[in-house]
Amino acid sequence: MTTGIWVLGDQLWTGQAALSSCEKEKKQTPVILVESRCYAQQRSYHRQKLVLVWSAMRHFASELRSAGWLVTYSIADDFQTALLNWIEKNGIREVRVMTGNDRPLMQLIQNWQLGCSVRFIPNNHFLWSAAEFRDWAQGRKRLLLEDFYREGRKRFKVLMNGNQPIGGQWNFDKQNRRPPQVKLETPQPLWFEPDEMTQSVIDAIKDENLTNYGEIEPFRWGVTRSDAKAVLEHFLRICLPTFGPYQDAMVTGEETLWHSLISPYLNLGLLNPMEVIEAAQKAYFENELELNSVEGFIRQVLGWREYMHGIYHYLDKDYRENNWFNHSEPLPDFYWHSDQTNMNCLHQVLIQVEKTGYAHHIQRLMVLSNFALIVGVDPQEIESWFHAAFVDAHDWVMVSNVIGMGQFADGGILASKPYASSANYINKMSDYCKNCAYNRRQRIGEKACPFNFFYWDFLARHQEKLKSLGRMNLALGNLLRISAEELEKIQALAVDWRQNHLLSNIN
Ligand code: FAD
Ligand code: SF4
Repeated sequence: MTTGIWVLGDQLWTGQAALSSCEKEKKQTPVILVESRCYAQQRSYHRQKLVLVWSAMRHFASELRSAGWLVTYSIADDFQTALLNWIEKNGIREVRVMTGNDRPLMQLIQNWQLGCSVRFIPNNHFLWSAAEFRDWAQGRKRLLLEDFYREGRKRFKVLMNGNQPIGGQWNFDKQNRRPPQVKLETPQPLWFEPDEMTQSVIDAIKDENLTNYGEIEPFRWGVTRSDAKAVLEHFLRICLPTFGPYQDAMVTGEETLWHSLISPYLNLGLLNPMEVIEAAQKAYFENELELNSVEGFIRQVLGWREYMHGIYHYLDKDYRENNWFNHSEPLPDFYWHSDQTNMNCLHQVLIQVEKTGYAHHIQRLMVLSNFALIVGVDPQEIESWFHAAFVDAHDWVMVSNVIGMGQFADGGILASKPYASSANYINKMSDYCKNCAYNRRQRIGEKACPFNFFYWDFLARHQEKLKSLGRMNLALGNLLRISAEELEKIQALAVDWRQNHLLSNIN
């Protein structure tokens, strides 16, 4: 019986479960990778996301060929036609696919008739399988990241001294929230020049005009496992030693600061999460690095990444439809066109996303997502935007991060309070407010910062719901100190802003 393997676009490493299952017979095993034009047009994508995924797939196909696999690389209108042709041509009786991470694609595949059996091999790209996460989660009142992370540290013996965390504490976050008050000497990120193969993908996407968001050039992402390993090594050597202190800082013109830039590679399979964690741990011991930096980084990969993936598969498939605040405003147009806003924080971050498809965590959470939340944007609409705008976006990481963490649309399954803030936070953690047309101190008046009036408007609109979350009491107490007259002005500003910036979207 001929078995063929279909490698999905985010499963690009030779140790993935489907390829591993046929490793011994690789010279007789047909393998296919498919670039589907229809799938790429079902939603908007950043131009660089398409270049990244398709160039990485083409490079991986060529690596597999060199290693002896019988590889077909198909550029097709849709997945099904390409697969049917390949199945027929190679007399395939069983197609093996490593179970995909994204539910919509899995549902699509399960509904196809390919005329042969399709066998899903359990996904081995995460440290916790869906079943292991379920065992951990079932029966718990709260699915707290901190509990999950500690369990992960013990289970995988990371930064542990027997049963105790190295350094006597699990978490050093308090040392990792330094505002950028002084001029920072920041490291240079490692970028790449496109090779011929990448350039041909860039040219094809330009010619076919497949998507219209984001700048396609300069394209500087890595597209192979060796590029991804070089980015990891660069990070470990140059950025990890001081990753912690300014992890939450935002600085004009500084796109990457000490962040690792490995999410696109991890999410495509070009890096493996355990190799990243082990390399960081090794660097800690060998180079005597600061624990707050190393623990802070390891928590992102061993904690947050695994937790978001586990939650996505653990919770109901309708989780993505949650809308606890019943928010229904359209997304402001300027999210798609950075030049259409004079709010400097949003303007700076949006320009960066257009140029690179990347922003770091606090830019995503406390600028882009925070603003949509306090304005009252429909959570599914802002989720779609995030999916379109980022090169590292995939359904599993998007739904939990945007619906759960960013928009609090699940009413608190994932976070204990909404990540909503006024200009105070942005001013403390960035230099954006210094060069803004708005006044960060004002919540009413002509120059009032929209983050301010929307923040108080948000608290006022939802105070009944927010009262049920103990952690919002301080903020709600502050709301009560605002006079009725001032609150009325705040709410009028919010209404005006929506009328000027959102209604035009709908018309
Ligand atoms: P670093 O700051 O160097 O962190 C190291 C690694 O930790 C990241 O590469 C990533 O793999 C992992 N990580 C940290 N936090 C998370 C998290 N919350 N969820 C998953 N992995 C995490 N991450 C994505 O990979 N794709 C997305 O589309 C995405 N969208 C997001 C949208 C919102 C609203 C928010 C709040 C977060 C989002 N994140 C997403 C998580 C996080 O912001 C990015 O993983 C991180 O900014 C990537 O940059 P980096 O590799 O330089 O990360
Ligand atoms: Fe953003 Fe307001 Fe600061 Fe301007 S003043 S940068 S809009 S937070």
